[in-house]
Amino acid sequence: MDTPITDTIFARIVRGEIPAQIVYETDSVLAFHDIAPQAPVHVVVIPKTPVRDLVEASPDAEMLGQLLAACAEVARITGIGASGFRVVVNTGQDGGQTVGYLHAHVLGGRALSWPPG
Ligand code: AMP
Repeated sequence: MDTPITDTIFARIVRGEIPAQIVYETDSVLAFHDIAPQAPVHVVVIPKTPVRDLVEASPDAEMLGQLLAACAEVARITGIGASGFRVVVNTGQDGGQTVGYLHAHVLGGRALSWPPG
């Protein structure tokens, strides 16, 4: 989490320096398969403009709306839209955020338990 945001894995994926299995892309967001999937479908959705986390991004409601809409589009594309899915934005240390670049997880393809650990 101390990594400068432009050096994070997700910033490097946006710049094309690290390969990713891209699922969906717009001018403002990029979605790709998680490298360590926690469900049959596990896609990471990020804004193309670097921002640290949900708190830092909160003034940009337009981008956050695009990010959330992209999550729904990813669910549709991957075929989990009808059966149901979960969108998770881990934030900060207690939230379990390990990459210091805002990202939403789209998880589905199996029944997901609640509450999370
Ligand atoms: P979080 O714990 O919410 O910060 O989630 C970070 C996620 O990024 C984890 O689910 C990792 O598996 C995922 N991840 C890390 N490196 C890559 C990568 N190169 N490509 C795709 N996903 C990655």
